[in-house]
Amino acid sequence: MKALVYGGPGKKSWAEVPSPQILHPTDAIVRVDTTTICGTDLHILKGDVPAVQVGRILGHEGVGTIIEVGSSVDSLSVGDRVIISCIKSCAHCANCKVGLYSHCLGDEGRSGIGWVFGHLIDGTQAEFVRVPYAENSLHKLPPGVSDEEAVMLSDILPTGFEIGVVNGRIKPGDVVAVIGAGPVGLAAIATAGLYGAGTIIAIDTDRNRLDQARHFGATHSVVSGSPDWKRSVLDLTDGAGVDVAIEAVGLPETFTMAIDVVRPGGSVANVGVHGKPVELHLEELWIQNITISTGLVNTNTTPMLLKLVAQRKIPAGKLATHRFRFDQFLDAYDTFSRAAETKALKVVIS
Ligand code: NAD
Ligand code: ZN
Repeated sequence: MKALVYGGPGKKSWAEVPSPQILHPTDAIVRVDTTTICGTDLHILKGDVPAVQVGRILGHEGVGTIIEVGSSVDSLSVGDRVIISCIKSCAHCANCKVGLYSHCLGDEGRSGIGWVFGHLIDGTQAEFVRVPYAENSLHKLPPGVSDEEAVMLSDILPTGFEIGVVNGRIKPGDVVAVIGAGPVGLAAIATAGLYGAGTIIAIDTDRNRLDQARHFGATHSVVSGSPDWKRSVLDLTDGAGVDVAIEAVGLPETFTMAIDVVRPGGSVANVGVHGKPVELHLEELWIQNITISTGLVNTNTTPMLLKLVAQRKIPAGKLATHRFRFDQFLDAYDTFSRAAETKALKVVIS
C-alpha cells in the first residue's frame, strides 16, 4: 500500500510500504477513505517529537471502512464505516475506566501516555491502518454524516470541547475568550455554545481566521497584537474580564494573554501544546481565585459529539477548506503548511 512515511526531521515521502496485518484479536484493519493533516504532524516533521521514529506512518485523524476484524471483535463488522479516534484506548485499564483514554495502559509492551496514531503506532495517512482495541477506538458512523464532517471528530472537535470547553467549566451566559482561531480554537468556539456561552470572543493575529470564527459561533473578534487588544476584550465585559479564557495556540505569550483577560474567579483552559516553559505567577493567581487546567485529549466525548454533528448542531464540515487525492499527499502538506497564505483550515485527503 501507499503511505506518508516520516524520514527524519524535514523528510517525508509518499511511499510503498507493507500493508498492516491483524496482530491481536482486538485489532481491526481499516481502509482509510478520508484523512487530514494536523499541526502536530508538522511538529513531528520538524523533529520536535523525538519519540516518533524514522519509518513511522504519520497521521492520527481518519474515517474509513473496516476490511478485517480480529477474532474477539464482536461489535464491529467488515464493511462498517467508522471514525478512527486519534488515540487507541482499551476501555478496561485503570485509566480508561475513569475516561482517561489518553493514558491507556493497554498492553502490547508499552504503557504511559496513550498511543496516538502516527506516534508510537503507524497512523492514518495511508491506504490502510491497523487499529488496536478496535471496539473502543473506532466509532460507527450513522448514515447522513459525511467523511469530511466525521474526520473532524478524530481529534479537533473532542480536543476543543474536552480540553477547552469542559475543562474551562463554561456556564450559561458566560463570556468566553478563545485565543487562537485555528482548527482547535474554532472547535472550541463551535462547542462553547453547548454549555450556553453568551459572548464568544475570538482572538487571533490572522484576520481570515477571525472572519472564519464568526461562522463557527464567535460573537466578537479581536486582532491579537493590536495596541488595544486587551482593552477591546475588557470593554466587552464592562471591564471585569472574561469568565473563561481558552488558550489554543501553545506559545508562552498567548498563555499570558489568557491570564491577562480572565476575571477574578474565572478559569483559564490551556489547550495549546507548549514547546517552551510558560510563566506562571501563582503569587498573583491565588488571590484572584483563578483556576487553570490543561490536558491531552481523551476522545471519550466523540460519540456524543458525533450525535450533535449528525443533528447539524456543530458545523464540522465547514472546517474542511481544501481537498486532495491520496496521490497528491505532498501537495496537501504544502498547502497546509502555508495556511496563512492559502487560507487553509483543514485539508482533506480522500
Ligand atoms: P494552528 O497553528 O492551526 O492554529 C493556531 C492559531 O493561533 C492560528 O490561527 C494562529 O494565527 C494563531 N496565533 C498564533 N500566534 C498568535 C498570537 N500571538 N495571538 C493570537 N493568536 C495567535 O493550530 P491548531 O491545529 O488549531 O492547534 C492549536 C493548538 O492546540 C496547538 O498548540 C496544538 O498542538 C494544540 N493541540 C492540543 C491538543 C491537546 O490534546 N491538548 C490536541 C490537538 C492540538
Ligand atoms: Zn486503557
